[in-house]
Amino acid sequence: MDRTMIPVKRTLLLDDSRSSVYKAAKIIRQGGLVAFPTETVYGLGASAADADAVKKIFTAKGRPPDNPLIVHISKKNQLADVARSIPDVAGELIDKFWPGPLSLVLQRSENIPPVVSAGLSTVAVRMPDHQVALDLISFSGGPIAAPSANRSGRPSPTSYRHVLEDLSGRIDAVIRSSVCVIGVESTVLDLTGSQPCILRPGGLSREDLEAALGCPVSLAGPGGGLDLPASPGMKYRHYSPSAPLILVVGPVGRRKQLVNFLVYRYQRKGFTVGLLNLSSQGSLKWEVDPEQFAAHLYRLLRRLDEEGAGVILAEEIETEGLGLAVMNRLRKAASRVIRV
Ligand code: AMP
Ligand code: MG
Repeated sequence: MDRTMIPVKRTLLLDDSRSSVYKAAKIIRQGGLVAFPTETVYGLGASAADADAVKKIFTAKGRPPDNPLIVHISKKNQLADVARSIPDVAGELIDKFWPGPLSLVLQRSENIPPVVSAGLSTVAVRMPDHQVALDLISFSGGPIAAPSANRSGRPSPTSYRHVLEDLSGRIDAVIRSSVCVIGVESTVLDLTGSQPCILRPGGLSREDLEAALGCPVSLAGPGGGLDLPASPGMKYRHYSPSAPLILVVGPVGRRKQLVNFLVYRYQRKGFTVGLLNLSSQGSLKWEVDPEQFAAHLYRLLRRLDEEGAGVILAEEIETEGLGLAVMNRLRKAASRVIRV
């Protein structure tokens, strides 16, 4: 979106002391926008009950109006103000996983304006596992609607610096705090159908959900949410660095061969080649630990951009644990996926 479309304002940088969080909550109460830390990524919050404030989130991010937001609560009993009905299965998952990186899709209450859910009759809701986020919600006096605090299409922010890179001058304040430990967004689980279904893999693994529910949990979308969209294009790219990202998938030996070839070819063309999860010897750096990869993914994408990478190469990892969320983000960030 054109930067001139919203008036440039001074973005207040607040620390995470109680008095500063109180100041931030006042901004939310008055209809402003505040970026705040959570255990997943930084969120861009507005009062969930204030439709005009929520609309400003879409403008500031350049977010398509058909992409719903997540409502954040600080106490489990606030759920009754957000969702019209709470199925038994939701109660079990909440007891086990809240506060934490699990967003539940439920029927939306009339207290929550339709713009929050992009007009859907449902609403996604979660309780973040971060004291600053919980205090902000509680001091603001009600639930906070918040997507990730990045410009639409960019990698999500895991530090206040990333928020300022994308949104300085477009939002009222950002709270500076520790980095986000999980590093990818929450798992979005739809509980409005006949079976629970993962709409977006995220910080809570599918295996943990299946163990809690005692049954397999399906993953929405073609190829279990991991296939390429039918018609590739910018509309489908998310979480993307400025440099094109090439994702190499297939058997490990052939992947390595192709990556070596691509490094050689792009360097000969004069490109700086950014290696996302590869060492310069061409072996995978993060394969053994998808949680580490998730924690650093967005920061690395932004850093490779800063370092002037002309092209970024990434290799697929196993989809166990947080590997599923990482692969989902890599496929969406990729401008090309090459299967060997
Ligand atoms: P973000 O926090 O920026 O990753 O955005 C929130 C994401 O939550 C959206 O992109 C959707 O994937 C998901 N979401 C939020 N509300 C709903 C809903 N009512 N139904 C389905 N998905 C939702
Ligand atoms: Mg987002």
